[in-house]
Amino acid sequence: KPHLKLSGVHRHYGEGDMLVRVLEAADLTVESGELVALVAPSGAGKSTLLHLCGLLESPQGGEIEIIGQSTSRLGDRARTQLRRSTVGYVYQFHHLLPEFTALENVALPQLIAGQDQNKAEARAMELLELLGVAPRAAHRPAELSGGEQQRIAIARAAANHPRVILADEPTGNLDPETSDLVFEALKDLIKNEGAAALIATHNHDLARRADRIVTLKGGLVVPHTL
Ligand code: ADP
Ligand code: ADP
Repeated sequence: KPHLKLSGVHRHYGEGDMLVRVLEAADLTVESGELVALVAPSGAGKSTLLHLCGLLESPQGGEIEIIGQSTSRLGDRARTQLRRSTVGYVYQFHHLLPEFTALENVALPQLIAGQDQNKAEARAMELLELLGVAPRAAHRPAELSGGEQQRIAIARAAANHPRVILADEPTGNLDPETSDLVFEALKDLIKNEGAAALIATHNHDLARRADRIVTLKGGLVVPHTL
């Protein structure tokens, strides 16, 4: 079963004169270990698609399955529960907690999920190593470079073993060289963890390094080449 599967997803906003059709019958499948880049102009519906995949919004039609589980009939609590246990999100800005060290920032979501401290810290360290920022484990965000901060945010998103990783412009505020480094680290992580990833980006150089590129056209998710 694919980790993420959208079938016939429909999402519009408003009605009458104010009707905005964003997705009409969108299909998208992302397999374990696959990194899909989403490239589309502003206003095309990238955030809407990410919100739907992350179970923050519900479609008005169609089905979204995460690790084979149908979500169309879930109530709010079950939906939130499934999101917390299966989805990791990387923001454009890192949103790390300034008073906590890198290690603590990555351990925290695990502690909140009920993991014990030793295991949470071991997992945090494993992720920091995988992303090449282990030597920064004891530093607070303000002491780190933008690229280091973002790699720690990626480690945090992966902390609870999400099966789906979503990111909206994860390298949007980094210089080109740092963006490359961070993107490659994200890619390694996705392959290593066997997560399914959907990454919205305007950076064509990075998008080309994904396994596949898609865009939004006429309310559909369609293959794209750059
Ligand atoms: P993108 O992320 O690609 O810029 P969005 O998903 O944010 O696109 O938006 C797609 C379209 O849906 C836009 O025309 C936007 O104005 C509209 N839209 C998004 N959210 C809402 C909302 N909550 N209410 C009304 N229109 C919305
Ligand atoms: P930024 O400044 O990077 O946009 P925000 O704090 O404003 O950071 O980002 C919050 C947004 O992150 C939400 O509106 C939503 O777009 C996105 N987001 C957070 N968690 C998820 C999730 N599980 N699935 C999809 N989108 C998410």
